[in-house]
Parts: sequence; structure tokens; C-alpha cells
Amino acid sequence: MGELKNTFSWSFSAAADFEVCRRRRYWSKYAMWGGWLPQAPDEARRAYRLSKMENIYSLQGIAAEAAVMWTLRRLQSGTEVDVEDAYREAARPLLNKAWKESREGNWRQDPKHFCCLREHYYRRWDSAGEKEATRAVAANVRRCVENFIVKVWPRLEGVRPADEVAVGVKDAGGALESFEVDGVTVYAIPDYVYRKDDFMHIHDWKSGRPRVSHELQLSLYGLWANIRHGVEAERIIVYIEYLSEGRVAFGSLKESDLDQVRAHIRMSVSDMAAYLVDGDIRRNEPLPKEEWELAADQRECRRCNFYELCAAELEGG
Ligand code: SF4
Repeated sequence: MGELKNTFSWSFSAAADFEVCRRRRYWSKYAMWGGWLPQAPDEARRAYRLSKMENIYSLQGIAAEAAVMWTLRRLQSGTEVDVEDAYREAARPLLNKAWKESREGNWRQDPKHFCCLREHYYRRWDSAGEKEATRAVAANVRRCVENFIVKVWPRLEGVRPADEVAVGVKDAGGALESFEVDGVTVYAIPDYVYRKDDFMHIHDWKSGRPRVSHELQLSLYGLWANIRHGVEAERIIVYIEYLSEGRVAFGSLKESDLDQVRAHIRMSVSDMAAYLVDGDIRRNEPLPKEEWELAADQRECRRCNFYELCAAELEGG
């Protein structure tokens, strides 16, 4: 196999990281490169390991999505399901495994395949805090499944597996879902997509609170549908499923929504390019670390995977 190349790409989460903190982007895209190799420099290995860390909220999202998709498949096959079935079969094993791995520490040798939770790593919990966190995650995942069964499933009941549109996801073995804007690879991975009555429907499962950025994220999925599947904006309906609250925000897109997200990508790519040698995204070579500013709002640092790499500068400054 040829040598892997660190090519420039764009995603909603990468852009969000870059906006919050330039240095975070440096660690997660550049410093970590090659950090999976045993002979890599210590800083690269640490940045790579930290880039793989989960946290309580990301894990909750993964568990809720697994439980919701498990429930959807059972209901599609005509099997009755209740919240406890879904939690026991799809969410609890995943959560227990992640917690055990995080505690046991095999991620030190293999951060890609063993979970490390940021809250464990940076000792953010005492034992009472950890118990409360596990209880809250379990309750929230159950609430998400309950709202899915009661409020979302009745809207999806008529969708057959043959109507569904395949989406390339992490760990599925194939390529991640992506498209190109001005020659830049843009990653966009919607949760659940199907065609019905000449429309493409795109659902995103959210286990946390609503955020203003979610609408733009769904427009990005619309752009994916437009470019990858040739669907006109007016024939794309997006649904932000706030499962924890049992609420949905939905609507069809307009061409102007796609223009807006295209403009956002172009602006963000141009901002990121300013941190590369000669502004050249083809070469994709980062400026020296010192050029990537630390977070302007250092409250972000407390919830950042890379804290230990910045600690000397943050605490010394
Ligand atoms: S610890 Fe703070 S300064 Fe360092 S990467 Fe994270 S957010 Fe940025």
C-alpha cells in the first residue's frame, strides 16, 4: 500500500472546531498525522490518541442512534418493541463496553479500537459525579427511544427498506459519504435518508439540545443530496429530530439554502487555507504550531480533548 497523504478536506465538525480554536484544528488535522505509527514523534502519537477520545455527550449520541436504528429495524420487520428492549439490546452493551474500555486503558496502545472517555482521562468526575452521569445518559437514551417510538415511527411507518438511500458511514468498511465543492472533498453523513413521492427525506437524530448551527448542518446534507443524487432543493425535506425533547424541526429546502451552505464552505475553506504554507490547500502543509492561535474563550479548553498538549502554554500564559 502506498503512503497515506494528509489531504485537505472539509466537514461541518472540522469547521466548527476551527471556529472555536485554531490550535484545536492544528492538533486534530496536522499534528496527529502519522501518530498511529509506533516510531512517530511523541507529540504526534499523543495528538492522534487524544483525537480519538470520546466524551459523555458523543457517547450518548452514538448509543441513542444505535438504539433508534435497532428499534426502526425491528418495527420495520413487524416485531413489537419497547424502550427496555432497545436499551438492553442496543444501547446498554455499547455503553458498558465503552465505559469498561475507558477504565481498563487499552486505548493507550490502540486508541482507534478502544474507547477513552475525556471525563475519565482528565479526571472530571468524582465517583458521585460519574454515577450521576451514567444515570443521566441511560435516562436520556431511553427517553430518545420512547419519543422515537411514539412520535417519529408513525411518520416513518410507510418507508420500506427499498426506499432507503445508502449512506457511507464510519466503520462500515466502504468510503465515508462525501462530495466535492470547488475540488475540495466535503464529508457529510446524514443519519437516515429515503425517497418517497418524488422527494428525498433526510433525518438527523439529535440526542442533545437544539443549536442554531443544526439548520446549516441539515442544509449541508441537502447539498449532499443535490450533488450526489441530483435532487433539486425543493424536492429535499430535512428533519432535525430532537429525540430527547420529542420535537422535530422540518421543512423543504430552497436553492438559496444550498447557496448559503456553499458560501459557508467556501468562506471556511478560505479561512483554513490562511493557516497553510502559501495558502495552498493542495500541498496542505500547516504553518508552524505557534501560528495557530489558542482558543479566545479558554472555557472551551476544559471540554477539549487536547488540553494536555496546550497545558504548558495555557497555564504559563
Ligand atoms: S486546550 Fe484550548 S487552546 Fe488547546 S486546543 Fe483545546 S480549546 Fe484550543
